[in-house]
Amino acid sequence: MSSHTKTAKKIGFISLGCPKALVDSEHILTQLRAEGYEISSSYENADLVVVNTCGFIDSAVEESLDAIGEALTENGKVIVTGCLGAKEDGDIVKKAHPQVLAVTGPNALPEVMSAIHHHLPQPHNPYTDLVPAQGIKLTPKHYAYIKISEGCNHRCTFCIIPSMRGDLVSRPIHQVMQEAENLVNAGVKELLIISQDTSAYGVDIKYRTGFWQGRPIKTRLTELAQALGSLDVWTRMHYVYPYPHVDELIPLMAAGKILPYLDVPLQHASPRILKAMKRPANTENNLARIQQWRRICPDITLRSTFIVGFPGETEAEFEELLEFLQQAQLDRVGCFTYSPVEGANANKLPDPVPEEIKQQRLARFMAVQAEISQARLSHKIGQKITVLVDEIREDQAIARSSADAPEIDGQVYIDNANHLKPGDFVTVEVTNSDQHDLQAKIKDKETKLP
Ligand code: SF4
Repeated sequence: MSSHTKTAKKIGFISLGCPKALVDSEHILTQLRAEGYEISSSYENADLVVVNTCGFIDSAVEESLDAIGEALTENGKVIVTGCLGAKEDGDIVKKAHPQVLAVTGPNALPEVMSAIHHHLPQPHNPYTDLVPAQGIKLTPKHYAYIKISEGCNHRCTFCIIPSMRGDLVSRPIHQVMQEAENLVNAGVKELLIISQDTSAYGVDIKYRTGFWQGRPIKTRLTELAQALGSLDVWTRMHYVYPYPHVDELIPLMAAGKILPYLDVPLQHASPRILKAMKRPANTENNLARIQQWRRICPDITLRSTFIVGFPGETEAEFEELLEFLQQAQLDRVGCFTYSPVEGANANKLPDPVPEEIKQQRLARFMAVQAEISQARLSHKIGQKITVLVDEIREDQAIARSSADAPEIDGQVYIDNANHLKPGDFVTVEVTNSDQHDLQAKIKDKETKLP
């Protein structure tokens, strides 16, 4: 068992009631997993227990109150959600069990999560968390993260995730698809697929065949993308390493099945550094691949992250990286200076780069990319694009296009849009751009997907 298992916050979960309650439970469980909580199957190992109740008939009320009582005796820290929590403003629960930490009604993901954050905060760990720190403020109802696997088979020298979370363990495809279907049925419009290494999905279980909607389906990335594409919502792929089979996703993007968006953490462009980092797919010719992807799917948005100042990085190798940036013309790029995470093997490498040079390289890198991002966004002026509305502030809608993942990419600002609501798809015309964001005006309100 990994050391992480000992330190991660663990939630016990009791789910009672009808299929709607089950969807709520899956929603909460998905969010918990995306935020890095672990789900415990026993009371003793849990730091806190959530009981999703039913209040439909008397026997269900009794069963729910008994379950809460049992959780309190066995564990002590209990949050109640579901239909019984809504009856008489939660008084039934509070009278029977005054020790419960919080009571919410059904379909109350934000309230349940904020109660969990309050009583059992999960500190954000930038080295291991897949969702950004801001993600903890809670995913709005119209998009959801689905984690398809845990752990990683690689041993990148700057990374400690495998030692914390262990080797890759893929979730069976029928389980992932069931969760996706439940989320879509509950109103989710965009699914964000996350894991440490999305391309490797299924490799640990030899791409085992599962069953979904009565049909056999392999636990493999392409098959997953096809199945998700049939749900008619936006599907966005994160943390995809450029293995050859990733090419199979690009025609699905060109055909509008999944979003033409690929988050490919490349980390560097110098072959020597990539080898020293022990990066997956470090011998692939990434530039040729990117060009080929763009030929097949010209609308594809490519996001990546890089590390500058890796131990031993020379000025020439850094310039190789800048040259790659110029050639690759990526749309969205994040960059970090190398930071020696405790326990990472790269710390033992010779010739650490002085902090001052790391910072200079970061600034030079960002200046090159800023120009590229700005130019690429300005090409969108005049285009008609479909966006998904996240938020309404006064009469302005804040939305995202296929090119924008929540929290990490840009936004599309639309004026005179207070008739829209979060979760709406709308066609807009881009009127202006800067380095990150777009301004747009409404063409048609619609529900049709791009
Ligand atoms: S692929 Fe590398 S960086 Fe990513 S989790 Fe695995 S070891 Fe860490």
